Formats: sequence, structure tokens, C-alpha cells
Amino acid sequence: MSTSALVLFSGGQDSTTCLAWALARFDRVETVGFDYGQRHRAELEARPGLLAALRKLPNGDRLGDDHLLPLDTLKAIGGSALTDDMAIDMGADGLPTSFVPGRNLMFLTAAAALGYRREIADLVGGMCETDYSGYPDCRADTIQAMVSALSLGLARDIRIHTPLMWLDKAATWALAEELGGAELVKVIMADTVTCYEGNRTYAHDWGLGCGACPACELRAAGYVKYRTR
Ligand code: ZN
Repeated sequence: MSTSALVLFSGGQDSTTCLAWALARFDRVETVGFDYGQRHRAELEARPGLLAALRKLPNGDRLGDDHLLPLDTLKAIGGSALTDDMAIDMGADGLPTSFVPGRNLMFLTAAAALGYRREIADLVGGMCETDYSGYPDCRADTIQAMVSALSLGLARDIRIHTPLMWLDKAATWALAEELGGAELVKVIMADTVTCYEGNRTYAHDWGLGCGACPACELRAAGYVKYRTR
């Protein structure tokens, strides 16, 4: 029986690594991205180029349709540094202002609904508890609860794979190398955008970004640790 998966693919380092992980395991892999009104479009704009690059790597022929869904309810709700013009610092709730409440819950719900129509019950996402910024919707417990809720609500056995859940950023680079060798590392380096500012101007040895925001600092530190293992 042929297997298929739907990857939550934002165009960042983590979701690109997850996509390579899925391509190595499933016969057919589709991708979904979400336009939630994020201030910086760099990640979304990087998606088509990344998909084209991955198609040329091993297992690239397994890559199927790409979907882009609007979830601008999150922008309408606002109040986050990722949707509104505000600084990234610690909020009164003890979480970074980059936290978008409910984002991963909505992403997973929309992905599962799309998967229902596409007859795909295996979802793959880059949620990670190791290096996470304290976002409660990245926790393994949250994901497990979503598996239960979606399986009940859709009357299907939904599976959510989170290959990065217990990896740090250095291990995520190492996983990319293990999956796709130097070629995949090069694609991730050159084409993925992790930066909270959506900055693609400066080329660092770890890729593109402002070099100063928390996401860039995490990516840079992870890359140094990966290179010096
Ligand atoms: Zn940055």
C-alpha cells in the first residue's frame, strides 16, 4: 500500500528538514503553507524555490501538490510581533511577543482538514520542544492532545509526526546532512529564512538573516555547534 504525508511547510529551516524527512519515508508527500498575515513574507516567498530545489534531490519525485491556505484570522486577532509592528521582547504573559496564540493549533486543524480531503492522515510538522521559545503549542503534550482531538473530530486515525521535537538546532542541521547530504545542507543554507525580521540581505556562514533577532541567534549558535561537533 502506498503511503502519503502532508508536511506543514513554511519555508524555514525546520520545515524544510521535516520535508526531507517525509520524502525519505513516504511514497507521496504534499505540502501546505499558511498565509496568516505574517508581517514578513520572506518565508512564504522562499517556498517555491525550495520546493523546486528539493525536487532535484533524492526522493524529489515523491513531492506532490503544494497548497497555500489563508489563515488571516490570526492577523485580525493580532497582538503579536509576527503579525503587528511591535518589538520582540518578553511579554507580560511570560512568553516572547513573537508568540501567536493558537497558531499551531489552527495550522494542525487546517492541515488535518486538508488531509481529510486529500486522503492523507499523516501530518508532519517542525514543532520542537528543545530549543523552543517557550511557545506552549510546540510542546509534545499539545501535539498529542491535537492527535486525540483531530482523530475524534474527523473520525479518522490522524498521526502527527514531529521529527525535530527533541532535537536542538545543531542536531537539526545534522539530520539534514544525514537525509540529503551536503546538497541539502546547501539548499537549506542558501534558501531558507528563519529570521523574525524576514531579513534576506546579509549572507552569514549559517545563511540569511539579520543576525540579531532571537531566531537568527538560535540558528547561528546551532550552526556553530553543528560545525564544531
Ligand atoms: Zn533575524
